[in-house]
Amino acid sequence: MGLLDPVKGFGVTFAMMFKKVATEKYPEVKKVTAARYHGKHQLNRHPDGLEKCVGCELCAWACPADAIFVEGGDNTEEERYSPGERYGKDYQINYLRCIGCGLCIEACPTRSLTMTTEHELANDNRQVLIFTKEDLLAPLLAGMEQPPHPMRLGEHEQDYYVNGPELAKGVQQ
Ligand code: SF4
Ligand code: SF4
Repeated sequence: MGLLDPVKGFGVTFAMMFKKVATEKYPEVKKVTAARYHGKHQLNRHPDGLEKCVGCELCAWACPADAIFVEGGDNTEEERYSPGERYGKDYQINYLRCIGCGLCIEACPTRSLTMTTEHELANDNRQVLIFTKEDLLAPLLAGMEQPPHPMRLGEHEQDYYVNGPELAKGVQQ
């Protein structure tokens, strides 16, 4: 071993001291994610507050990780949660299983299910990583009313789903 060999070994370390630091200072400094990042899911609402989910279970069938549980229920005129016949009575996503692939949101026929950019989903408690419908429902925005309530934007479900593009304006996605 030559006399300068130990010094050569430290050369790499020394050179790195002058390079730009790539370390993220998370969680003190939070990086903004891409707009289409696949984060926490959201169950969206119509502009009057009724839920877009019709409890069809297509999202659950599309999920390769078996992370979604849906149980549909029947709307009645006295107790209505969505414009159609059925609504999502129970809805759960297990984030211990979810791989963020987005196949569920592609499968959803009503655009009820979308994904937000919220990514801070880690927890040391397995139970709280099973999100319930209450955890996933979009907040009530101005002009929205907490269901159950009658259809405010038309007499038929088609007024919501067929004429949806106009109604969908202003809905958080
Ligand atoms: S993002 Fe993928 S893994 Fe997660 S719930 Fe949806 S389909 Fe399942
Ligand atoms: S989120 Fe969409 S696909 Fe899933 S049950 Fe509701 S309407 Fe059907």
